[in-house]
Amino acid sequence: MEARCQCTLIHFPIPHTKPLAIVVCHCNRCKLLTGSVYNIAAIFPWFDILSSPTVLPNLSSISNTPDSGSTVTGYFCKGCGNRMVHVEGNGGAEGGREWFSVAAARIVGFDWTVLRDRDLVVHCWTREAVVGVPEGFRAFEGHMEREEMQSKGEGEGKRDDTDAGAEMGVGPRNV
Ligand SMILES: [Zn+2]
Ligand SMILES: [Zn+2]
Repeated sequence: MEARCQCTLIHFPIPHTKPLAIVVCHCNRCKLLTGSVYNIAAIFPWFDILSSPTVLPNLSSISNTPDSGSTVTGYFCKGCGNRMVHVEGNGGAEGGREWFSVAAARIVGFDWTVLRDRDLVVHCWTREAVVGVPEGFRAFEGHMEREEMQSKGEGEGKRDDTDAGAEMGVGPRNV
């Protein structure tokens, strides 16, 4: 998989064959971010593109600390403004992170039909939703619980992370 912005200034490989989860976030911040009613993010086990000398210089960032969660930093392309990724904390490439959130729309050839996959998709911040959450999907009224991501990560890691030695939110947090 590869991620790429609209102007192609930012592009990087994703060293995983499948996301741990697809998070559909209905929070009001995501409405501001997207100009739409929710944001869709693909959550991967942590991988570091932020220390890449060909990527980081072309990204700007903004950090938010929602009332209910820890700080999340979003990175966007200096050329076209596309939001690319979110990480926990105040940005940078420091270690200890568990996940890496890539904006689904930035994944080349993203298969939108996965939004029907009840095993993969989680809806969060449904208390701020203005469109209905489809029946049968896991959903959180607020931010997605950390335990949820960890348990998913362990399961997915055994089955799918064959290539990365694998590890992310908008993840699951309110961004
Ligand atoms: Zn959100
Ligand atoms: Zn761009």
